[in-house]
Amino acid sequence: MAAETIPALMRQAPELAPWLRLYQEVLGVADDPGWAAAAMTRRHDLRPDQPLLTGAVIPLSAGLATATLRRLMLVASAQEAENGPPFKAASGAAALDAPMLIQAAINEDTAAIAASAVALGVDPPALGTIVQLAALPLLRACHAALAGAVPAQWGQGSCPTCGAWPVMAEVRGLDQSRHLRCGRCGADWAMPTLWCPFCGESDHTKLGALIPAEHDRPLRIELCQTCRAYIKTATTLRPWAPADVPLADIASVEWDVIALDNGLARPRQPAVALGARIKALP
Ligand SMILES: [Zn+2]
Ligand SMILES: [Zn+2]
Repeated sequence: MAAETIPALMRQAPELAPWLRLYQEVLGVADDPGWAAAAMTRRHDLRPDQPLLTGAVIPLSAGLATATLRRLMLVASAQEAENGPPFKAASGAAALDAPMLIQAAINEDTAAIAASAVALGVDPPALGTIVQLAALPLLRACHAALAGAVPAQWGQGSCPTCGAWPVMAEVRGLDQSRHLRCGRCGADWAMPTLWCPFCGESDHTKLGALIPAEHDRPLRIELCQTCRAYIKTATTLRPWAPADVPLADIASVEWDVIALDNGLARPRQPAVALGARIKALP
């Protein structure tokens, strides 16, 4: 599904093409059995409010991680005038530690990613985008491996599997049930009505919605006046597949602009300290 919608999205919004091109690469390697995360070691002393990957040790083929990260860097270098030559050099650098960077991405450890960017001579935010993309196949494999372990009553705003903040919400089906979606592992968890996933506000006078009048797609911005965060909420018939969640997010980037213009923002800090570790396999 996701792979087929990308060319149309590129035509609709050429400014999104560089990111979409990288995402195509990610989808192209996502079926490699080397990402299978079933052999991970999980902690069994977690509190009920801690995501399943907290403190987990996840084995990962160093060769697959390195090949994926190199490939993404080369694609990025081919399409970026300014960052191109540094990324081309970094893709072949001996200092490129792909398992460590994927671990940093999973833990949303921006300091570790920034330190690597300095060592590799590349732009830290650009490297951050690339390593977050490189971590997606493993995070989705983790979600698939752990799907049966997610608590039915997960009462948190952040992802029950990987701990990330949700990127979007769905109001789904005939019963209009509300679900939060993780843009990384693809997890899908219930969201009560009148509840801010970011700060837990449940006072209806503090919660609202922006419904851009000039847009026809079934999407709105739900906002919280207490923490000034927002979440784009789409009406859907069926759940988005995990690979479709980031596409729904990027395809509605104009709503993010409207939210920013209204003084709203996504949370800046990670929701949790995940502390997952990658065990690089030779
Ligand atoms: Zn997740
Ligand atoms: Zn809030």
